[in-house]
Amino acid sequence: MAAAMGAVALVAARLSLVVEGNMRPALLDSLFAPVGALPGVGPKNARLFDRLLGPADGARALDLLFHLPVGVLDRRARPKVRDAQTDAIATLHVRVTEHRPPAPGRKGPLRVLVEDETGDVELVFFLNNFEWVKQKLPVGATRWVSGRLELWDGHLQMVHPDKVLDEEEIARLAPVEPVYGLTEGLYPRIVQKAAQAALAKAPALPEWLPPPLSFDKLSFMQALRRLHGPETPDDVEPTGPAWKRLAFDELLAGQLALLMVRARMRVASGRTRSSEGKLAARVLAALPYGLTGAQARASEEIRADLAAPKRMIRLLQGDVGAGKTIVALLAMCHAVEAGGQAALMAPTEILARQHFERLGPLAAGLRLELFTGRDTAAQRREKHARLAAGEIDIAIGTHALFQDSVTFHNLGLAVVDEQHRFGVHQRLALAGKGDAADLLVMTATPIPRSLVLTYFGDMDVSVLDEKPPGRVAIDTRVIPLERLEDVIAGVGRALASGARAYWVCPLVEESEELDVAAAEDRAEALRQFFGARVGLVHGRMKGPEKDAAMERFQRGETAVLVATTVIEVGVDVPEATIMVIEHAERFGLAQLHQLRGRVGRGTGRSTCLLLYKGPLGAAGRARLEILRESEDGFRIAEEDLRLRGEGDVLGARQAGAPGFRIARIELHGDLLRAARAVAEDVVRDDERLAQEAHRPLRLLLWLFEREAAVKLLEAG
Ligand code: ADP
Ligand code: MG
Repeated sequence: MAAAMGAVALVAARLSLVVEGNMRPALLDSLFAPVGALPGVGPKNARLFDRLLGPADGARALDLLFHLPVGVLDRRARPKVRDAQTDAIATLHVRVTEHRPPAPGRKGPLRVLVEDETGDVELVFFLNNFEWVKQKLPVGATRWVSGRLELWDGHLQMVHPDKVLDEEEIARLAPVEPVYGLTEGLYPRIVQKAAQAALAKAPALPEWLPPPLSFDKLSFMQALRRLHGPETPDDVEPTGPAWKRLAFDELLAGQLALLMVRARMRVASGRTRSSEGKLAARVLAALPYGLTGAQARASEEIRADLAAPKRMIRLLQGDVGAGKTIVALLAMCHAVEAGGQAALMAPTEILARQHFERLGPLAAGLRLELFTGRDTAAQRREKHARLAAGEIDIAIGTHALFQDSVTFHNLGLAVVDEQHRFGVHQRLALAGKGDAADLLVMTATPIPRSLVLTYFGDMDVSVLDEKPPGRVAIDTRVIPLERLEDVIAGVGRALASGARAYWVCPLVEESEELDVAAAEDRAEALRQFFGARVGLVHGRMKGPEKDAAMERFQRGETAVLVATTVIEVGVDVPEATIMVIEHAERFGLAQLHQLRGRVGRGTGRSTCLLLYKGPLGAAGRARLEILRESEDGFRIAEEDLRLRGEGDVLGARQAGAPGFRIARIELHGDLLRAARAVAEDVVRDDERLAQEAHRPLRLLLWLFEREAAVKLLEAG
């Protein structure tokens, strides 16, 4: 064993020049170990942590440490009873004078009277069994009790004190206790203990920030320790030094990754791909409509980029329905006419297939092929061979397109649709398949202008800020879920006159299984009303099943399509005019806007019903109202940001929301600018982070999962 390890180490050492960046430094192992491996976290709680913290492959210690407190319980106040504040937490030193159980045979709370020399307090316990209380608070004993003090009927009471402690225990009580976001079944104490356990196992890390950026001189680990072990409420403030230190680190990791990737991509100087536009002209002639001004403009920008010797890295931003697909097709035509191949990558199979079917007839004369995970091995071999031989002009597909086994003959342009669904490394993997292939990424996630830089670095941007003509405004209504029956009846009337409706089911928890169950239940319930005209599509279905369900809806064989958010991106059924979204309050605004964009694609009048489960807070209400008032994706995104800034955390972790875990753009804009400057300084003359002083930054990239950038360093 030892010999084998030695041999491995030797080989590894020899390879280190090549693969070093690909492997996570062992120093970080304990941070990337599963939460379930922490002392005191059993399998049941481990599952709850997985649910709470989210990552698909299970929560790790680092995820827990990045789950920062949302506030504190301040137990520092230890007043005499007479001086204690009501409606606040007090920690009182008192003597137990009397137990008042409920009358024999009656239900009711146990009241325990306690006092100090200045006054008395009633402790109230609603329990089935009072044994624990009697043991912890025997008459005559002196104890510390900590909890919320209230004035009730003229006297002081504390219902279920949080803590009942003796002298020894009070000495160990954290005076300020962090409060965490939880999930059902997970107790605060468990999260606190697990976070402390994770900190105890955490390694000492070298400092990666240049000295002048001190954040009270807190290191990354010290900042984490302060946030999880606060001494004052200020310690967990997002504007305090500890939080800001981590936010800065996160923003720096993001900026570094963007700049490194960009530096890398610009290294290979681009190719000139000029075309006369013959193929594009043929497509335009086949279109039943003319381009909008914005489409024409974007097309021209792209054509010019392709023709220039510099490599294109361009973002095409356009609201849902703005008509990005045709712009992509025209770009691909230019690339093909210039003698290259083009690839269009879509995030889902449904969407890839739809692109393939729509674009084929428009691009008559070009050789299109579809690549998805559903191809059989034989099909795949055959398609790959044709692609490598240059017998395919335009390859359309899912992530199946950028697998290692895929080789292009001469990839000139890679287009990535709905880019927020793909990571940086996937985009690069595709672009890397060509010799300095140009790259066009398209997104319908309206990203506020202020954030484009954060997420995309300095890509060139084309914006489709104009919708195709003839679109009728979507009638959006916000309706309480209690009125479900009315909604069903209304949908029924619309169906009777030939309408088609999407019915999007709630995100239950953050679990796909539960989402699917909810969608299945809803489909079943709707079948009671609409019979076999109800279809169902969700993420757990196999590709062919999904397509079949979509096709039945497209052809009108089903009139109601119950769906989870798999329909969110791109799917186009112009006949659908009704969108019902259940539990709209659980979705991010951008996501709701995307979903709504599935209707209003034809010329008919469309309706979007946002069903919410009350009670909604003022902010929650305001969020949905924005959708009612506006169909401008950019405005919606700006408003979402503003409202979230006002403390509505809903939506922060939702799928599709380009997310930071710690940094809040609305609070930490100055940090972003500073991080940008530091990253520029570093990357300017050391884009591989090879200098001794820059090597700790590699750890930073791993910690914030920008390791795709690290891998690039060594990728050759
Ligand atoms: P998105 O930008 O959301 O990807 P699509 O490319 O799917 O939008 O286009 C949405 C719909 O608008 C499609 O049905 C498409 O055929 C149509 N469309 C695109 N451009 C125009 C145009 N200039 N005039 C009329 N309809 C258009
Ligand atoms: Mg699209």
